Amino acid sequence: MLCPKLTCMLRPRPRTRRFSTAILSQPLNFINGTRSIPTSHNETENITVFNPAKGEIICETVSSGSEDVDRAVQAAKNAFPLWSQLSGFERGKILLSVANRIKERREELAELEVLDNGKPIWEARVDVQSVIDGLEYNAGLAPTISGQQIQLPGGSFAYTRREPLGVCVGIGAWNFPVQIAGWKSAPALACGNTMVYKPSQFTPLSALLLAEIYNESGIPDGVFNVIQGQGETGRLLTSHHDVAKVSFTGSVPTGKKIMADCAGDIKKITLELGGKSPLIIFADCNIDNAVKGAMLANFMTQGEVCSNGTRVFVEQSIKDEFLEKLLDKIKDMKIGDPMAEDTMVGAMISKEHMEKVLGYIEGAKLQGANILCGGERVYPEDPSLSNGYFLSPCVMDNCTDDMTAVQEEIFGPAMAVLTFETEEEVIKRANATKFGLAGGVFTSDLTRGHRVIANLQSGTCFINNYNLYPIEMPFGGYKQSGLGRELGTSAIDSYTQTKMVYVEMGDVDCPY
Ligand code: NAD
Repeated sequence: MLCPKLTCMLRPRPRTRRFSTAILSQPLNFINGTRSIPTSHNETENITVFNPAKGEIICETVSSGSEDVDRAVQAAKNAFPLWSQLSGFERGKILLSVANRIKERREELAELEVLDNGKPIWEARVDVQSVIDGLEYNAGLAPTISGQQIQLPGGSFAYTRREPLGVCVGIGAWNFPVQIAGWKSAPALACGNTMVYKPSQFTPLSALLLAEIYNESGIPDGVFNVIQGQGETGRLLTSHHDVAKVSFTGSVPTGKKIMADCAGDIKKITLELGGKSPLIIFADCNIDNAVKGAMLANFMTQGEVCSNGTRVFVEQSIKDEFLEKLLDKIKDMKIGDPMAEDTMVGAMISKEHMEKVLGYIEGAKLQGANILCGGERVYPEDPSLSNGYFLSPCVMDNCTDDMTAVQEEIFGPAMAVLTFETEEEVIKRANATKFGLAGGVFTSDLTRGHRVIANLQSGTCFINNYNLYPIEMPFGGYKQSGLGRELGTSAIDSYTQTKMVYVEMGDVDCPY
C-alpha cells in the first residue's frame, strides 16, 4: 500500500550503506533488547527463507515455541510499567529519534525488504517512507492523548483517562513486512503499550532490523520484541493470558482462528484481512487517469496487495478504448531484477504462491475468460534470476461475476475486467461479495462519485484515484475484510482504553 509521493521514489538513491549480511546468519528473535536463538522450537516447523527473485535460500531458522513466546511476553510485560509511565511527549520524542534513525538507514531497510519479499526497490522505499511517516505522525499524537472532564451537579465531576492496554501482539503478512510492523508498533508504542511482533515466516528479516533500530534509538529493552515462527507460534501468542490485544494482518481464514483464540480472554483485536475490491469506471471519467488507477489497483507489489481493486467494472461504451490504453501501458512495465531502479514488476513471494496464481488464471480461461495479456511465468535474461518467481501482469477480459477468479482473492497480478450498463446494476454487483476492504470509482460527475461510494460496502474508498494510504487516513475493512481500523487517530483509539473516574465534592447521598 502506498503513500502519495510515488514517482519521487523512482529516483535512484545513494547506496552508501547496505544491510550487513550478518543479519542473515544470526539468530532471528529479538527479545528484551538482544538477539536470541529460539530455545523451544518445534522441529517440524523449520523456516527456510527464500529470495524470490533468485529462488535461492537466504537463511534458515526455526519456529519459536512456548518458552520463547513466554520470554518475549514477559519481557514486554516487565517493560510496560516504565514505558507506560513516561509522558506522551517523552515517548513521542523517542519515536521521532527512531524516525530519524530510519531516515539514515532507509536504503538498508528497503534492500532487505526487496531481498526477502521480491518487490521492486522503489516500492520498498515507499514502504519504508510509510514507516517513517507512521512514527512521526504518532510521535506528534502521543502528547495529545488525553481524557475529558465532565461537570456534574453540586460541583462534583468526572474525568476520563486514556490508558494503554498493556502487552500488545502484532502479527504480520508477507506482502508489506516492514510497513505492517511499523503501522502496528508506532501507535501501540505512542500510547504507552509494549509489543511482541511476529512477522510472516516468509519475510522475517526487516522486522528484526526495525527492532534493532528501535533499540539503538532509545526505545528501552523489552518495549518492542520480535519473535519468529509460523502459525503455531502465532497461536501461542494470541492465546497467551498476559496479552491484552492482538493486531493481525493476514488472510480471512487465519483472522477467524485468531478471533476465536482471543475470545477466551476477551482480548481486544484488530483484524486487517483480505479483499476482492471493486473499481468502477464510468464512461464520463478521465480515461487516462482511470487506466493509471486500474494499474495502481492491480499491479503494485506483483498484485499481492489486500486492498487491490481486482474486479474492474468498466462501463460498456468505453471498454474498447479503456482496454487499448491499458494494454499499451502494461507492455512497457519492465519485469525482472527487483533491485534495478527501472523494474516495475518484481518476483512473487514463493513458487507455491506463483503456481496458485497461475492456477486461478488457467481456471478463468476454462470458465470463459479471454486473456488479453500476461498471466505467464517469465524467465528474465539475467541467468541469476532464471529460478525467480516472475509473472507477467495479466488482464482477463470477458469475465463474469460467477467465475472463481472474480469471486476469490487471487493475490497476484491478475485484473478481471467486467462491463456494466447502469449505476444501480454495478453497485449491486460490486457489493455481491463477502469481502469489503476497499473500493473505488472513476467519474467526472462528482455527485455520482459520492453517491456510488456511499452505497459501496467497503471500509476504504477512493474517488478518481486508488490505493493511496496517507498515514492520517484510517484504514480497514467492512464485512469479512476485518475489524477495527489502523492508521489515523483510529489507531490511537484501538491501542487505548478509557477509564471513567467519578469525583464526589459533597457528602455521600445514601438512603441506607
Ligand atoms: P496468513 O493468514 O496465512 O498469515 C498471516 C500471519 O498469520 C503470518 O505471520 C502467519 O504465520 C500467522 N498465522 C498463521 N496461522 C496463525 C494462527 N492460527 N494464529 C496466529 N497467527 C497465525 O496470510 P498471508 O498469506 O501471510 O498474507 C496474505 C493475506 O493477508 C491476504 O489475504 C491479504 O489480503 C491479507 N492482507 C491484509 C492486509 C490488510 O491490511 N487488510 C494487508 C496485507 C495483507
